[in-house]
Amino acid sequence: MKVRLVDLKAQYGAIREEIEQPVLEFLQDQYFILGPAVEAFEAEVADYLDVQRAIGVSSGSDALLIALMALGIGEGDEVVTSTYTFFATAGAISRLGATPVFIDIEPDTFNLDPRGVESSITDHTKAIIPVHLFGQCAPMDQILEIGTKHGVPVVEDAAQSMGATFEGRQSGSLGLIGCTSFFPSKNLGGFGDGGMVFTNDEALGEKLQVLRGHGSKPKYHHKLVGGNFRLDAIQAFILSKKLPYLGQWLDARRTAASRYVQLFDEAGLVHCGTVVLPRELCGTHTYNQFVIRVPRRDELAAFLKEEGVDTAIYYPIALHMQECFSELGYEEGSLPESELAAKETLALPMCPALKEEAQQYVVKKIGEFYS
Ligand SMILES: *Cc1c(COP(=O)(O)O)cnc(C)c1O
Repeated sequence: MKVRLVDLKAQYGAIREEIEQPVLEFLQDQYFILGPAVEAFEAEVADYLDVQRAIGVSSGSDALLIALMALGIGEGDEVVTSTYTFFATAGAISRLGATPVFIDIEPDTFNLDPRGVESSITDHTKAIIPVHLFGQCAPMDQILEIGTKHGVPVVEDAAQSMGATFEGRQSGSLGLIGCTSFFPSKNLGGFGDGGMVFTNDEALGEKLQVLRGHGSKPKYHHKLVGGNFRLDAIQAFILSKKLPYLGQWLDARRTAASRYVQLFDEAGLVHCGTVVLPRELCGTHTYNQFVIRVPRRDELAAFLKEEGVDTAIYYPIALHMQECFSELGYEEGSLPESELAAKETLALPMCPALKEEAQQYVVKKIGEFYS
């Protein structure tokens, strides 16, 4: 059997008819950049998240960048974030000349530890970026409280958590600015790159929108230096067609996740402590990734590959240990939970179309490896 990490073809097959013909018609307009399709999609997502402003941008990475630009973050500023995340979170901070201040994670959820946030705040802290890793919200109540107490804005990296909720509210709508990604493998994925920023602050929403188009408003009058952070019309058009399915896709992810839990339990792999399963402790988990902890992780991954099962390691090196951040002076062992997670975590196949037989096969093979 062959089990892919993410089966985008299966998902596309199910909605193909709703997309192909309309896209062909859409092409007749030859309208490629921003415009009505982008505006319509922005309004739909604003409604879905219950936010005042949703601004389509070129990628999740650019969403983070433009959010920090809108807050005026630059040289001399510090931004507190998790060391255990995709590079883009910290890259956005560094690209603006600011300093990422990395903090450790909570071992149960892989999300940033609020105690680390609090103790890392200085007079130079200009933002906190919690990452809702693997599709589960960070402890936003505590993080927002710390932000409010110190007068520091919270920018959410909701790239992996589209549709996840915390105390009944959508991820991306909780902080001053929320950022998400429509990279094809995310919970809501386009046919290429795309992203979005969210805010309930009208003035900030206006600034984000102006920054998206080189700071130009009216056209060719530049009060600000922005960039080309525009979302393609065709991506917005496709994403509009996919958005109505997001709820059922998230349900399917959650169903697949509980099947894994049951299968691992039945196989006796959890009870003996060999496999540590992901835990849902903070709002609704959307399982953009299903990440387990295991001993001899790299050997297991190699074994599974030979048996036809694709896996991935998110992330093999915590950001404070990355070469490009070496001048920040973090020592090995300084953020131990993240360093341990980098050695133990393995993402198993996960997507809405994942079949029960495939999951049985994956768990059976993992059992074989440890028997
Ligand atoms: C995917 C991702 C991003 C970046 O999104 P792109 O659209 O790929 O630029 C940022 N942060 C996290 C946590 C991500 O998973």
